[in-house]
Amino acid sequence: MEPVTIDRSQHVVSRKGISPEALRVLYRLKDAGYLAYLAGGGVRDLLLGRAPKDFDVATDAHPNQLKRLFRNCRLVGRRFRLAHVFFHNTIIEVSTFRAHVPADQAPPGPHRVSTPDGMIVRDNIFGTPPEDALRRDFTVNALFYNIADFSIVDYVGGLKDLDARLLRVIGDPRVRFQEDPVRMLRVVRFAASLDFAIEESARQALLEMKELLALSSRERLHEEMLKIFFCGRSEAVLEELFRTGLFGTLFPDIAAWLEGPEGAAGRAWMAKALRQVDKWKAAGLRPGEPLLWALLFGAYFEAQAAHLQEDQPGLPLPAAQARSAHDHLLNPSHRVQIPRNAARGAAEILAAQSAFARTQGKAPRRFVTRHVFRDALVYFKFAARLHGRDEALVEWWMRFLAETRNAGPAKPQGEAEDPAAEEASGSNII
Ligand code: ATP
Ligand code: MG
Repeated sequence: MEPVTIDRSQHVVSRKGISPEALRVLYRLKDAGYLAYLAGGGVRDLLLGRAPKDFDVATDAHPNQLKRLFRNCRLVGRRFRLAHVFFHNTIIEVSTFRAHVPADQAPPGPHRVSTPDGMIVRDNIFGTPPEDALRRDFTVNALFYNIADFSIVDYVGGLKDLDARLLRVIGDPRVRFQEDPVRMLRVVRFAASLDFAIEESARQALLEMKELLALSSRERLHEEMLKIFFCGRSEAVLEELFRTGLFGTLFPDIAAWLEGPEGAAGRAWMAKALRQVDKWKAAGLRPGEPLLWALLFGAYFEAQAAHLQEDQPGLPLPAAQARSAHDHLLNPSHRVQIPRNAARGAAEILAAQSAFARTQGKAPRRFVTRHVFRDALVYFKFAARLHGRDEALVEWWMRFLAETRNAGPAKPQGEAEDPAAEEASGSNII
């Protein structure tokens, strides 16, 4: 199979855009006589003039050869065996070219295992570069950059689709979504974050097959949710999740609530929450997971807490808030496995909200020292702004913090990456 090859003089990918660690891996492979390609999202992003999140390397060296070539290397992965090459503060993922063998043609054996409904659970059949391109998910994700001559190698029409800003599934979208339903979430994330259109047959397949997402592992869906939170366009991803109905597959209980009388407000809340997360991303800030879940689903938790209190009149608000967040986030009926400590943290953030009303005596000083305070403050400011309530209280707390800060120790170093720390230090980014 002959690829389209684009010479160095005809494309914009420069070694200056590639991390020194990725370059070292590529050159080490090439010098040892192997094929060494930059692959995946790194090539796509460089061609689009964006800064890649990470760099993946594809090669014809087998995992054991990689192990010998790189001292700082570990073989990982159950589903795919790949090598992680460790550097001071980064890891380069190196994978051996693999073949995509359709489920019904896979030779039996330990290399390739799929479930009766066609989902691939293990996939370790080595292949050639074109085979490796074809087993990838979307054409724009299947481009290679060859370190031997700095050319771009395109086996799947990815360059054309990149120009047309189109996400096209490689092969038959129905088959590829069946093999790995997480690809449906990836389509939606990439479409929103790259501002690409979804090719029509893929969109159709997605609409027809969205329920299949429920078959994916809950851990992988959790990972995918984190990628959505941090993609920089999470608000747009959420809109697309609503539009396609994938949201309902992931979080059926919240989707049902959104259909009800509180739905419009709930949607507005969620969109604003993710707009905030996107603003943080643009500012280089990364909220912790408890804050993310609390912000995303806060409207729902608050509504459920109110219902809980109606059912149990003696139940104090903080307890009701904590219970609704905790029970919901750990609810096994939704398809995303949220870690226990994230759920507990989110519950704490909700439960802490009523403490902002106590501005008398020692309570504020004590509250500020609590571990949950900073995240709780972010949530409090967010909710106050959204509902147009508690303006005076927010002001009171910001003044109080400014005063205690002046009296207290300087802000510890290295905390600037956390928006909650920024908030507590008075930067007012909400
Ligand atoms: P990001 O910018 O989010 O890192 P990416 O395209 O690099 O985007 P990764 O999840 O890092 O995405 O995966 C690297 C590459 O591996 C992809 O570009 C794609 O070629 C391939 N890939 C990843 N997940 C799948 C999948 N589920 N099915 C097929 N190919 C996949
Ligand atoms: Mg990547």
